Amino acid sequence: MANGEKRDYYEILGVHRNASETEIKKAFRKLALQHHPDKNPDDKAAEDRFKEATEAYEVLSDAQKRAHYDQFGHAGLSGGGGFSGGGFGAGTPFGDIFSDIFGDIFGGTGGRGRQQGRRGDDLLYNLEISFEEAAFGVEKRIEVPFAKRCGACNGSGSKPGTEPKVCPSCRGAGQVRYQQGFFSVSKTCGQCQGEGKIVDNPCPTCRGKGSVKDSKALSVKVPGGVETGSRLKLTGEGGQGKGGPNGDLYVAISVREHPIFQREDNNVICEFPISFIQASLGCEIEVPTLDGKVSMKIPDGTQSGKIYRLRGKGIPSLQGYGRGDQLVIIRVETPTNLNKKQKELLEEFARISGEDVHPLKKGFLDKVMEFLT
Ligand SMILES: [Zn+2]
Ligand SMILES: [Zn+2]
Repeated sequence: MANGEKRDYYEILGVHRNASETEIKKAFRKLALQHHPDKNPDDKAAEDRFKEATEAYEVLSDAQKRAHYDQFGHAGLSGGGGFSGGGFGAGTPFGDIFSDIFGDIFGGTGGRGRQQGRRGDDLLYNLEISFEEAAFGVEKRIEVPFAKRCGACNGSGSKPGTEPKVCPSCRGAGQVRYQQGFFSVSKTCGQCQGEGKIVDNPCPTCRGKGSVKDSKALSVKVPGGVETGSRLKLTGEGGQGKGGPNGDLYVAISVREHPIFQREDNNVICEFPISFIQASLGCEIEVPTLDGKVSMKIPDGTQSGKIYRLRGKGIPSLQGYGRGDQLVIIRVETPTNLNKKQKELLEEFARISGEDVHPLKKGFLDKVMEFLT
């Protein structure tokens, strides 16, 4: 292709001369999808457009080449080699563009990764623990189901005494490459699903899968401070890889509700009911905490809803420093089911008590009077 006949790279991609990298990539992607040889078999014009767009993208996506092109035009690139528009064989930078742009279209055609074997599956295990265990941490033994290599066929999936045959489509590679116009694409082999082998006589123990269901016992160290939704990752404890690394095991924590405690961040909330007599006269209460009972003096005249803070009696922080507080919310309980004698005494109490023993009520009633008159 003579330089004189070449179209401007920006014009080819349909972008401004000051287009951003993203805009250039987007424009190329659109053109490439439109003119892709896979979509336009035996269409020479589409193939030419695709080739043209690819060449333009290769230059404009590289800051150095782009600057050179901006300054000198096509002439500035002709000496560099590799831009002649010929076949994009192995060893050209096209491979990078290819995986960058098309990786997601063909489901990762890279091939190299797949030939290194398959990584095992990641597993998720739901672990329920108590409020206290979540607070202080716990070590739990769990049984994790996983797929174990079948001992009968040694993982081949083939009936003992027989061998799986090499897949005729991919000749054992697990990948098939096909030439499409000027470049070659590799895809997972459809006949063997990328295994490279085909089992004719399946192993009766694993029914040809090469693995059997099993479970393993694991010890999980749950750190103090976890909460529902926390996840622990046990690297390599997931599904067995096939020639590749094992997957990971994720342990998802769910914390059981506590009969008297609730959690808010790293604070423990506890509602504590007292009688109106205790609230009026003051009292000493025994408050349960994560560390056992704590004595608390409630002064006389304490109102319902009053919150007392017990410092450092909350949940230890997951990061390992400090603890939250325990918040004790006082609930003053109105007595119910009073008998005749009790009612009489309360009426007597009311008679001898002026409004000054109920300052809140007095203040409120004063405001109501003011409001109504
Ligand atoms: Zn087997
Ligand atoms: Zn195959």
